Amino acid sequence: MPELPEVETVRLGLQPVMEGARFKKVEARRPDLRWPLPKDFVKRLQGETVTGLGRRAKYLLADLTSGDVLIMHLGMSGSFRVLDNGSEATPGRYHHERSQQLAHDHVVFHMSSGALVTFNDPRRFGFMKLVPRRTLDAEPLLRALGPEPLGNAFDAALLATACKGKKTSLKAALSDQRVVAGLGNIYVCEALNRARLSPKRMASTLATKAGAPHERAERLVEAIKAVLNDAIKAGGSSLRDHRQTSGELGLFQHHFRVYDREGKPCPTPGCTGTVKRIVQTGRSTFFCPVCQK
Ligand SMILES: [Zn+2]
Repeated sequence: MPELPEVETVRLGLQPVMEGARFKKVEARRPDLRWPLPKDFVKRLQGETVTGLGRRAKYLLADLTSGDVLIMHLGMSGSFRVLDNGSEATPGRYHHERSQQLAHDHVVFHMSSGALVTFNDPRRFGFMKLVPRRTLDAEPLLRALGPEPLGNAFDAALLATACKGKKTSLKAALSDQRVVAGLGNIYVCEALNRARLSPKRMASTLATKAGAPHERAERLVEAIKAVLNDAIKAGGSSLRDHRQTSGELGLFQHHFRVYDREGKPCPTPGCTGTVKRIVQTGRSTFFCPVCQK
């Protein structure tokens, strides 16, 4: 499942060929992904120009001259390929294996920039949807999302308020998209290790009794932003690696401090702990029981 930094690196890779460019031709090779493609999908895109390519949580949002927004989601196994000036690139960083099978090329955008942008998704959990920009705030997919973790609004006070009185674990609270949008299993584990906070700690302890942010909330917000920015930076540097054709699975995993590193030494300087794996709400949590309190 792609996480926020992956989606952001995909956005950064698509932006140069899509932003300011017109959909010259759109091929929808099958009528459905996770859901059926919108009615008149091809007609509503062709001839329109992308005025901006943004992101909300793990959704890519392409604003069109028509006033529509094209919402794109990678699902479990989706990826984009860009063929531009004879060179092919797969922008972004993917932890999952990327399919090379052309049979899974479901949507193809022929952009006026000359680039061919292809969406490939073997498992078809990804989707594309068109909604008018003026109704975007009411869009069910986006409506309930909490603040963007990299946005300015997301700070210790906001996180403390969201977690005040919450009798769930920090792991569960941070995985809740209403508390903070777009954080998945990997980066929740990574941020908690950086902040030296136990994933089992009660979320309510991020706030003081009076509801003010505890110092722990400051540390955690800083760690969340840092871990996401580092991951985006690491993925961003791979954008130049246009020749990469195999899935990049494993390539970036050595950047993880605790995720998928059960039994390995904790990377916190001076800590002699060993990374442990537990299961919380059905998902693996990796953490160091020594320095994460
Ligand atoms: Zn440790």
